[in-house]
Amino acid sequence: MRCIIGSMSIDQQYIENFLDDFQKKHAGEPEFVQAVEELVSSLGDVLEERPDLRDARILERITEPERIIQFKVTWVDDNGVPQVNRGYRVQFSSVLGPYKGGLRFHPTVNLSVLQFLGFEQIFKNSLTGLMLGGAKGGADFDPKNKSDGEVMRFCQAFMIELSNHIGPDTDIPAGDIGVGAREIGYMFGMYKKLVNEFHGSLTGKGLDWGGSNLRPEATGYGLLYFVEAMLEHAGQDIKGKTVVISGSGNVAQYAAIKATEMGAKVLTLSDSAGYIYDADGFSLEELKYVQEIKNVRRGRIKEYLQKDPDAEYYEGQKPWSVKADIYLPCATQNEIDKADAETIAANHPLVVAEGANMPTTPEGLEVFKQAEVLFAPAKASNAGGVAVSGLEMAQNSMRTSWSLEEVDERLKSIMRDIHAQCVKAGKTDDTVDYMKGANTAGFLKVAEAMLSQGVI
Ligand code: NDP
Repeated sequence: MRCIIGSMSIDQQYIENFLDDFQKKHAGEPEFVQAVEELVSSLGDVLEERPDLRDARILERITEPERIIQFKVTWVDDNGVPQVNRGYRVQFSSVLGPYKGGLRFHPTVNLSVLQFLGFEQIFKNSLTGLMLGGAKGGADFDPKNKSDGEVMRFCQAFMIELSNHIGPDTDIPAGDIGVGAREIGYMFGMYKKLVNEFHGSLTGKGLDWGGSNLRPEATGYGLLYFVEAMLEHAGQDIKGKTVVISGSGNVAQYAAIKATEMGAKVLTLSDSAGYIYDADGFSLEELKYVQEIKNVRRGRIKEYLQKDPDAEYYEGQKPWSVKADIYLPCATQNEIDKADAETIAANHPLVVAEGANMPTTPEGLEVFKQAEVLFAPAKASNAGGVAVSGLEMAQNSMRTSWSLEEVDERLKSIMRDIHAQCVKAGKTDDTVDYMKGANTAGFLKVAEAMLSQGVI
């Protein structure tokens, strides 16, 4: 029976006390606090049904990273000037498997951002059903406007230290913002030289040297498989729907390609300088051009106007005012604030699904909740990337390579399974609370494993 003290149940009181303590302890780490609040605020019902989880202090234990590694990265730029950056790896939880999560190279990288990302990763990885723990790492290095040689020297210097802490059964990093195929290649080369072994200690490797089919595409494709499942569950079809996407990096590119292949019309792409609006929708050929701009020339999304002068470019703006059926934030954290969410909600979208990690602020989430927008949180909808990373690890340890079709089938099946877990744990009378579903299902698996493994 639920015990009520005043107007608050014991579990609500416990959650409030926990969050109070957590906020005090992490006062200078807003992103980490935001991620923990987002998860914990969904867990009232679980903690009511399972007082044993409260008694075992699962929340207190799972919010403390198992290990944080911070190190100096020194390298020499093209002018012969020594440069210094900070490198990190947050090994958050190894409860469900070896530490797994991306590396981010961006000037905004700090321990608050990496703890938020590592924390999210634990529950995302749990939802995939694969044997993966949670981690995140990176550096405050900005690859923008650096020569290839500078990026290589930085990656090598970063790996000299990181190599002491990773391995195929310990910790297997992947890419994230600022870390794509080029950076993974440079880091893998250095790692291999240092340990004198060729094994799968990084994912996102090139196809000819241990990579998996479909890893570059996986996060964006997986996002669309998830959206397709949400629409189906709501009695809708993705064909003919309009889509607004932010970002133009890895996740955004492949989300746009898969949406277009599914018969939807992608109206926008963006970067940190502004957004492009193409009223006709980007064709697959035009999306190839976007990939050339971003991945080969390492240019700006504005350059798309050279290909399609009829498209419109909005400097310094986000794409959320464009009316569409589906909104996919695929750039970075907190890119949808309260006002943005109000703008999106006023357009009565069918679905908002997060491609980026935590792109919606708490105030934005509240707006979506009040407006009853069908909303998919990142830990469910963008799990396709880490899922195929998990498949890359499996192929590496079996020394085999699965076909594109085989990996695609497995990815689809994992995303549909995550969708089913969300529906099961998040079903309400007339709709699905995907946030509650993802948080509850992801958390419970980790919590059960922690109970089984004892206090360590
Ligand atoms: P990329 O580096 O390939 O692309 C990032 C994109 O976001 C670029 O278009 C970039 O624009 C834009 N961006 C970055 N910072 C900002 C900002 N402050 N304001 C506006 N736009 C910004 O990264 P990914 O596509 O790999 O990652 C995008 C998001 O998806 C991140 O949140 C990441 O954590 C998440 N994610 C990625 C996965 C993957 O497999 N890669 C897996 C799961 C989640 P610009 O070029 O101007 O910086």
